[in-house]
Amino acid sequence: LPEYAFIGRSNVGKSSLINMLVDQKNLAKTSGRPGKTQLINHFLINKNWFLVDLPGYGYARVSKKAKKTFQKFITDYFEKRKQLVLAFVLIDCRHEPQPIDMEFMQYLGESAIPFNIIFTKADKLKPGALERNLASYEQKMLETWEEMPQYFITSSSKYIGRDELLDYVENVNDEVADSIDK
Ligand code: GDP
Repeated sequence: LPEYAFIGRSNVGKSSLINMLVDQKNLAKTSGRPGKTQLINHFLINKNWFLVDLPGYGYARVSKKAKKTFQKFITDYFEKRKQLVLAFVLIDCRHEPQPIDMEFMQYLGESAIPFNIIFTKADKLKPGALERNLASYEQKMLETWEEMPQYFITSSSKYIGRDELLDYVENVNDEVADSIDK
């Protein structure tokens, strides 16, 4: 089945977002690799795609060695990606553009992996502040990219952005299926 990877800095709100997206009654949690459950999880959604939960990057409080292990794990996943359709890079909407996120998106670009952005924790900003932050993010992205990638605005605590995101994936999934049929 097609896979959609969810990834971002630790504490960006990835677990909360996944909990919002994953319908408890449809939940099938399987480990990509036995014994490595803490590193990668697959969630089956609507019986037709996998949400792939990748480890967070940019931990402040782990050793260099642990960082390397996570990094290698992430790059291994992206290098082997057979079923990967695209990645969602999660960004905390309160933060200025961070070098680590920029580098990560650069890496995806260089690896020819399509990606979208999910801005998380939108409830933490007033609408005006959110708009300003998104505008400055877009400006920063346009220094590197020809256009701003498609992005989504979510709040897991206020249940914002769920349907839009799920509908989007279903649509992409239909397109993928169509292109395989042809
Ligand atoms: P992860 O490390 O990326 O999996 O992040 P978590 O999902 O564990 O969230 C990190 C912290 O941010 C927790 O304290 C969450 O309660 C909080 N958080 C996550 N999403 C939201 C959100 O949409 N709104 C608010 N206000 N807090 C959030």
